[in-house]
Amino acid sequence: MDKWMHLTSFDREHLWHPYASMSNPLPVYPVVSAEGVRLTLADGRELVDGMSSWWSAIHGYNHPVLNEAARRQISSMSHVMFGGLTHEPAIDLASLLVDLTPGPLQKVFLCDSGSVSVEVAIKMAIQYWYALNRPEKNRLLTVRSGYHGDTFGAMSVCDPVTGMHEMFAGILQRHYFAEAPRCPYGEPWEETYIDDFKLRIQRHCSELAAVILEPVVQGAGGMRFYSPAYLSRVRKLCNEYEVLLIFDEIATGFGRTGTLFACEQAGVAPDIMCVGKALTGGYLSLAAVLATDRVSGTISGFKSGAFMHGPTFMGNPLACAVAKASIEILLDSPWKQRIKGIEMNLRESLSACRRLSKVADVRVLGAIGVVELTEPVHMASIQKRFVEKGVWLRPFGKLIYTMPSYIIEEDDLSRITGAIFDTIREEYP
Ligand SMILES: *Cc1c(COP(=O)(O)O)cnc(C)c1O
Repeated sequence: MDKWMHLTSFDREHLWHPYASMSNPLPVYPVVSAEGVRLTLADGRELVDGMSSWWSAIHGYNHPVLNEAARRQISSMSHVMFGGLTHEPAIDLASLLVDLTPGPLQKVFLCDSGSVSVEVAIKMAIQYWYALNRPEKNRLLTVRSGYHGDTFGAMSVCDPVTGMHEMFAGILQRHYFAEAPRCPYGEPWEETYIDDFKLRIQRHCSELAAVILEPVVQGAGGMRFYSPAYLSRVRKLCNEYEVLLIFDEIATGFGRTGTLFACEQAGVAPDIMCVGKALTGGYLSLAAVLATDRVSGTISGFKSGAFMHGPTFMGNPLACAVAKASIEILLDSPWKQRIKGIEMNLRESLSACRRLSKVADVRVLGAIGVVELTEPVHMASIQKRFVEKGVWLRPFGKLIYTMPSYIIEEDDLSRITGAIFDTIREEYP
């Protein structure tokens, strides 16, 4: 333990963690290995993981097939530049993505992370209208309570309040925000629900390059689930008012909501789509932007025809090889039944939380379970309680939620939901 006291004190002095202070850091727990749905801490304790490392490790940790895919790829070439060169891992992955995503999406841009894919998507939309000699169409329309990443373009379409970027408000590009979709998932649709969005797209369409949305589930901006009917209305309005539609499926992609991509539930295809997070099964950072032939053709038909983006690690073969293996594992697994099973279990076991006095709402969709409190959690103390109960959860704001790996067994899931119930009861007696 001596070694770890030394290491964690170095960590506290020198290492920045996500959304963390350096002068008053919250405790961090050293983890030494991970296997299946379990994390092993340096002191030997095992935690059942309810986060799948920010929703990405959908097959669990230390997966033999993913390990083998990485080993095989690393022994031939872990990286090579994508400018002027190509390789099988990128081609194979692109071919899978083109097959699995909605039909009109035919062109694939591989990049490093979710936030960068959002930047790429925004640039594509702006270049599209530039190529059509309508450079004034360079603004975006989105909805409140969204989250699209931490880089500047992505920040500019995050919820202005819950989007965690309030202090940059003055220097961010100003875009347009409609109210957050009002129709909860599973409730009957009423046409008035689209009124606010319709008003804004009508009013601003001459300046709008694109609408950007997280389909069905708004993740880090509030863990809200809304009716797919909203998306079909948005698709129609985008067509009518000549605005491109971008779906950010970074959180929802690869089965999380019960369909391979959330937009399938609305039966609509976007013009541009971002995927990331679960793309490599949580092994490596990789994201992809898919676009229709119309988008790529328009951009490419203008002047040099080049799309102006190309990161150093574009199409990294190691990440692509693992992503391909991860998608194959998913498709070969009974993922639909598994997610249905997780959904049923979460619905049943989390509903007990409704009778706790500080619980405002409980909602479940696919492999996502959310308990919304009436006040923000006290992170350090709540995190400690979860660890003491042998589970790993990372609440934010008023939200305690789980997005477990798809391979989680029933008793491990019960451990997570039991810990959520007990912890809320203890923290708010
Ligand atoms: C996580 C997330 C992003 C950002 O992805 P990073 O890989 O963290 O940059 C963007 N959009 C959504 C919906 C996300 O959940």
